[in-house]
Amino acid sequence: RDETTSRGVVRFCEGVIDRMMCKTQHLSDLDALVGDGDLGSNLEKAGRKIRDKLDIMPLSLGLFTEAIATILADEMGGTSGVLYTAFFLHFSRSLQQGHLWAAAFEAGCGGITDLGGAKEGDRTMMDALLPAVQAIHKAREEEKQDAEVLKLAADAAQKGADKTKEMQAKKGRSSYLGSRAIGHPDPGAQAIADLLKIISDVFNS
Ligand code: ADP
Ligand code: MG
Ligand code: MG
Repeated sequence: RDETTSRGVVRFCEGVIDRMMCKTQHLSDLDALVGDGDLGSNLEKAGRKIRDKLDIMPLSLGLFTEAIATILADEMGGTSGVLYTAFFLHFSRSLQQGHLWAAAFEAGCGGITDLGGAKEGDRTMMDALLPAVQAIHKAREEEKQDAEVLKLAADAAQKGADKTKEMQAKKGRSSYLGSRAIGHPDPGAQAIADLLKIISDVFNS
Protein backbone atom coordinates (compact mmCIF):
# COMPACT_ATOMS: atom_id res chain seq x y z
CA ARG A 1 0.00 0.00 0.00
CA ASP A 2 1.52 3.26 -1.18
CA GLU A 3 0.84 5.70 1.65
CA THR A 4 1.28 8.85 -0.44
CA THR A 5 -1.29 7.74 -3.00
CA SER A 6 -3.46 6.48 -0.20
CA ARG A 7 -3.62 9.80 1.59
CA GLY A 8 -4.08 11.65 -1.69
CA VAL A 9 -7.06 9.59 -2.85
CA VAL A 10 -8.67 9.56 0.58
CA ARG A 11 -8.21 13.31 1.06
CA PHE A 12 -9.59 14.00 -2.42
CA CYS A 13 -12.71 11.93 -1.74
CA GLU A 14 -13.23 13.45 1.68
CA GLY A 15 -12.97 16.93 0.20
CA VAL A 16 -15.53 16.13 -2.49
CA ILE A 17 -17.94 14.46 -0.07
CA ASP A 18 -17.69 17.25 2.54
CA ARG A 19 -18.37 19.95 -0.02
CA MET A 20 -21.20 17.95 -1.57
CA MET A 21 -22.94 17.78 1.85
CA CYS A 22 -23.50 21.54 1.59
CA LYS A 23 -25.75 20.87 -1.43
CA THR A 24 -28.06 18.42 0.36
CA GLN A 25 -30.81 20.86 1.27
CA HIS A 26 -30.84 22.68 -2.06
CA LEU A 27 -31.00 19.43 -4.05
CA SER A 28 -33.78 18.03 -1.90
CA ASP A 29 -35.69 21.31 -2.25
CA LEU A 30 -35.33 21.11 -6.03
CA ASP A 31 -36.48 17.47 -5.98
CA ALA A 32 -39.44 18.47 -3.77
CA LEU A 33 -40.56 20.94 -6.44
CA VAL A 34 -40.63 18.38 -9.23
CA GLY A 35 -40.26 14.96 -7.55
CA ASP A 36 -40.39 13.46 -4.06
CA GLY A 37 -37.77 15.56 -2.29
CA ASP A 38 -35.24 12.88 -1.42
CA LEU A 39 -32.37 13.47 -3.83
CA GLY A 40 -30.25 15.46 -1.37
CA SER A 41 -30.64 12.89 1.37
CA ASN A 42 -30.04 9.99 -1.06
CA LEU A 43 -26.71 11.60 -2.00
CA GLU A 44 -25.80 12.58 1.56
CA LYS A 45 -26.37 9.06 2.86
CA ALA A 46 -24.23 7.64 0.05
CA GLY A 47 -21.48 10.17 0.81
CA ARG A 48 -21.45 9.28 4.50
CA LYS A 49 -21.26 5.55 3.78
CA ILE A 50 -18.35 6.03 1.37
CA ARG A 51 -16.55 8.32 3.83
CA ASP A 52 -16.94 5.75 6.61
CA LYS A 53 -15.19 3.11 4.48
CA LEU A 54 -12.47 5.21 2.86
CA ASP A 55 -9.75 3.90 5.16
CA ILE A 56 -10.39 0.27 4.29
CA MET A 57 -10.95 0.65 0.55
CA PRO A 58 -8.53 -0.70 -2.07
CA LEU A 59 -6.24 1.92 -3.56
CA SER A 60 -5.95 1.13 -7.23
CA LEU A 61 -8.43 3.45 -8.90
CA GLY A 62 -10.21 0.56 -10.66
CA LEU A 63 -10.86 -1.37 -7.45
CA PHE A 64 -11.49 1.80 -5.46
CA THR A 65 -14.31 2.86 -7.79
CA GLU A 66 -15.65 -0.70 -7.85
CA ALA A 67 -15.87 -0.53 -4.06
CA ILE A 68 -17.81 2.74 -4.40
CA ALA A 69 -20.25 0.98 -6.77
CA THR A 70 -20.80 -1.75 -4.19
CA ILE A 71 -21.46 0.78 -1.42
CA LEU A 72 -23.89 2.70 -3.63
CA ALA A 73 -25.70 -0.51 -4.60
CA ASP A 74 -26.15 -1.42 -0.94
CA GLU A 75 -26.81 1.99 0.54
CA MET A 76 -28.05 4.60 -1.92
CA GLY A 77 -31.78 4.90 -2.41
CA GLY A 78 -33.89 6.32 -5.20
CA THR A 79 -33.58 6.14 -8.94
CA SER A 80 -30.27 7.95 -8.54
CA GLY A 81 -28.94 5.14 -6.36
CA VAL A 82 -29.46 2.61 -9.13
CA LEU A 83 -28.11 4.89 -11.83
CA TYR A 84 -25.05 6.09 -9.89
CA THR A 85 -24.29 2.43 -9.16
CA ALA A 86 -24.45 1.67 -12.89
CA PHE A 87 -22.12 4.60 -13.55
CA PHE A 88 -19.49 3.41 -11.07
CA LEU A 89 -19.71 -0.22 -12.20
CA HIS A 90 -18.98 0.73 -15.81
CA PHE A 91 -16.48 3.40 -14.78
CA SER A 92 -14.51 0.93 -12.65
CA ARG A 93 -14.68 -1.82 -15.27
CA SER A 94 -13.30 0.53 -17.90
CA LEU A 95 -10.45 1.62 -15.59
CA GLN A 96 -9.67 -2.02 -14.85
CA GLN A 97 -9.43 -2.65 -18.59
CA GLY A 98 -6.70 -0.02 -18.68
CA HIS A 99 -8.62 2.94 -20.07
CA LEU A 100 -7.91 6.47 -18.87
CA TRP A 101 -10.41 8.33 -16.67
CA ALA A 102 -11.91 10.27 -19.59
CA ALA A 103 -12.84 7.11 -21.50
CA ALA A 104 -14.02 5.49 -18.27
CA PHE A 105 -16.25 8.49 -17.60
CA GLU A 106 -17.89 7.99 -20.99
CA ALA A 107 -18.31 4.27 -20.26
CA GLY A 108 -19.96 5.16 -16.94
CA CYS A 109 -22.43 7.43 -18.70
CA GLY A 110 -23.11 4.60 -21.17
CA GLY A 111 -23.98 2.39 -18.20
CA ILE A 112 -26.62 4.90 -17.09
CA THR A 113 -28.06 5.10 -20.60
CA ASP A 114 -28.22 1.30 -20.95
CA LEU A 115 -30.21 1.08 -17.75
CA GLY A 116 -32.33 4.24 -17.79
CA GLY A 117 -32.75 4.78 -21.52
CA ALA A 118 -32.76 8.57 -21.21
CA LYS A 119 -31.53 10.69 -24.09
CA GLU A 120 -30.39 14.29 -24.13
CA GLY A 121 -33.45 16.52 -23.80
CA ASP A 122 -35.44 14.11 -21.60
CA ARG A 123 -34.77 16.30 -18.53
CA THR A 124 -32.57 13.95 -16.54
CA MET A 125 -29.00 13.80 -15.25
CA MET A 126 -27.98 12.89 -18.82
CA ASP A 127 -28.56 16.53 -19.76
CA ALA A 128 -25.59 17.43 -17.54
CA LEU A 129 -23.52 14.29 -18.16
CA LEU A 130 -23.59 14.19 -21.97
CA PRO A 131 -22.41 17.82 -22.42
CA ALA A 132 -19.64 16.99 -19.93
CA VAL A 133 -18.62 13.98 -22.07
CA GLN A 134 -18.51 16.22 -25.16
CA ALA A 135 -16.47 18.87 -23.34
CA ILE A 136 -14.00 16.24 -22.13
CA HIS A 137 -13.56 14.91 -25.67
CA LYS A 138 -12.92 18.36 -27.07
CA ALA A 139 -10.56 19.42 -24.30
CA ARG A 140 -8.52 16.24 -24.63
CA GLU A 141 -8.28 16.65 -28.38
CA GLU A 142 -6.88 20.11 -27.66
CA GLU A 143 -4.41 18.38 -25.29
CA LYS A 144 -5.52 20.32 -22.24
CA GLN A 145 -4.28 19.27 -18.79
CA ASP A 146 -6.60 17.25 -16.52
CA ALA A 147 -7.25 20.25 -14.27
CA GLU A 148 -8.50 22.26 -17.24
CA VAL A 149 -10.44 19.31 -18.68
CA LEU A 150 -12.31 18.94 -15.39
CA LYS A 151 -13.08 22.65 -15.28
CA LEU A 152 -14.50 22.61 -18.81
CA ALA A 153 -16.53 19.48 -18.00
CA ALA A 154 -18.04 21.16 -14.95
CA ASP A 155 -18.92 24.29 -16.93
CA ALA A 156 -20.58 22.21 -19.66
CA ALA A 157 -22.55 20.23 -17.08
CA GLN A 158 -23.85 23.42 -15.44
CA LYS A 159 -24.89 24.83 -18.82
CA GLY A 160 -26.68 21.55 -19.53
CA ALA A 161 -28.41 21.59 -16.14
CA ASP A 162 -29.56 25.18 -16.77
CA LYS A 163 -31.13 24.10 -20.05
CA THR A 164 -33.31 21.54 -18.25
CA LYS A 165 -35.31 24.45 -16.80
CA GLU A 166 -37.09 24.69 -20.14
CA MET A 167 -37.51 20.95 -20.67
CA GLN A 168 -40.48 18.72 -20.09
CA ALA A 169 -39.51 15.48 -18.34
CA LYS A 170 -39.78 12.22 -20.27
CA LYS A 171 -38.25 9.96 -17.61
CA GLY A 172 -38.48 9.63 -13.85
CA ARG A 173 -40.96 11.09 -11.42
CA SER A 174 -41.12 14.59 -12.88
CA SER A 175 -42.53 13.14 -16.11
CA TYR A 176 -45.86 12.96 -14.29
CA LEU A 177 -45.81 16.73 -13.83
CA GLY A 178 -45.99 17.71 -17.49
CA SER A 179 -45.18 21.41 -17.90
CA ARG A 180 -45.33 22.10 -14.14
CA ALA A 181 -41.60 21.38 -13.89
CA ILE A 182 -40.81 24.23 -16.29
CA GLY A 183 -38.71 26.99 -14.73
CA HIS A 184 -36.87 24.67 -12.32
CA PRO A 185 -33.78 22.68 -13.25
CA ASP A 186 -33.90 18.90 -13.11
CA PRO A 187 -32.52 18.03 -9.66
CA GLY A 188 -30.49 15.08 -10.94
CA ALA A 189 -28.82 17.23 -13.61
CA GLN A 190 -28.07 19.96 -11.07
CA ALA A 191 -26.56 17.36 -8.72
CA ILE A 192 -24.18 16.23 -11.49
CA ALA A 193 -23.23 19.84 -12.24
CA ASP A 194 -22.56 20.45 -8.51
CA LEU A 195 -20.54 17.25 -8.21
CA LEU A 196 -18.36 17.97 -11.24
CA LYS A 197 -17.75 21.56 -10.09
CA ILE A 198 -16.70 20.29 -6.66
CA ILE A 199 -14.47 17.59 -8.18
CA SER A 200 -12.81 20.24 -10.34
CA ASP A 201 -12.40 22.65 -7.38
CA VAL A 202 -10.93 19.98 -5.11
CA PHE A 203 -8.63 18.72 -7.87
CA ASN A 204 -7.42 22.27 -8.48
CA SER A 205 -7.03 23.16 -4.77
P1 ADP B 1 -36.54 9.17 -7.22
O1 ADP B 1 -37.43 9.75 -8.26
O2 ADP B 1 -36.54 7.69 -7.20
O3 ADP B 1 -36.77 9.81 -5.88
P2 ADP B 1 -33.98 10.56 -7.15
O4 ADP B 1 -34.60 11.68 -6.39
O5 ADP B 1 -32.92 9.76 -6.46
O6 ADP B 1 -35.08 9.55 -7.72
O7 ADP B 1 -33.35 11.09 -8.50
C1 ADP B 1 -34.10 11.87 -9.36
C2 ADP B 1 -33.28 12.17 -10.60
O8 ADP B 1 -32.98 10.96 -11.29
C3 ADP B 1 -34.01 13.00 -11.62
O9 ADP B 1 -33.91 14.37 -11.32
C4 ADP B 1 -33.30 12.64 -12.92
O10 ADP B 1 -32.20 13.49 -13.16
C5 ADP B 1 -32.76 11.27 -12.65
N1 ADP B 1 -33.43 10.25 -13.46
C6 ADP B 1 -34.66 9.74 -13.30
N2 ADP B 1 -34.89 8.80 -14.24
C7 ADP B 1 -33.80 8.73 -15.03
C8 ADP B 1 -33.41 7.95 -16.19
N3 ADP B 1 -34.22 7.05 -16.73
N4 ADP B 1 -32.18 8.17 -16.72
C9 ADP B 1 -31.34 9.07 -16.18
N5 ADP B 1 -31.64 9.82 -15.10
C10 ADP B 1 -32.85 9.66 -14.54
MG1 MG C 1 -36.41 11.86 -5.53
MG1 MG D 1 -37.38 8.78 -4.12
